Amino acid sequence: MKQIVTTHPARFLPSPDAKPVSGLGTLATWCPHCERVHTHGAAGRGAQHRVEKRGAHCDAALGSPMAGRGVSLLVDGSIDAVDEVKPAAPMVRAGLQLHRQLADAAAALRRALLRTLTARRAVRQDMAAFRLEGHEVAVLDLGLSWTIGGRDSDASGRGLLSLAASLYGVTPGIAGRRILETTAGIRLPPDVAIEIEGTLDRWSQSNEAAR
Ligand SMILES: [Zn+2]
Repeated sequence: MKQIVTTHPARFLPSPDAKPVSGLGTLATWCPHCERVHTHGAAGRGAQHRVEKRGAHCDAALGSPMAGRGVSLLVDGSIDAVDEVKPAAPMVRAGLQLHRQLADAAAALRRALLRTLTARRAVRQDMAAFRLEGHEVAVLDLGLSWTIGGRDSDASGRGLLSLAASLYGVTPGIAGRRILETTAGIRLPPDVAIEIEGTLDRWSQSNEAAR
């Protein structure tokens, strides 16, 4: 597995009750995974330009892959208020977060995707059930679990990537790459597409093996 090194820019926020030269205070960094500011102790070194290795303060519940890992803070300058490390992005200024907006729309987005994958066959609320070409297809909880019964084989899985793979005879990685391209309105270059497909397929196989 590749070593993942994540470096986040950080700024020194002096402690209000300490002398500025003391170097006491916190290092504030904008975390693009949690979409919030994390603060770490400055270890008495203030705004001195340096890289500090710390444990990430990320929350796995917010979907941050950095939770429980190390992070490198590139300390560069100081600030007077914690808000100064937030990006000037309009939604950040409006107090909105991408992961929360997506979570709010998750059911509607997945329902639209499930309708598409099943070619609009019998999708009601959060489930789909239909017969097609000698197969019984059943999908529960918008794809949280699914089964395809056939004359000589049964398949089952979790999530819409493996469902798409089993319905259409592609791999979960190819399904994922096509869904990403279509929903994001992009066309990935071949090298990137192949890399994403391979990564998703390896994950999918180990995920199946672990079930
Ligand atoms: Zn975080």
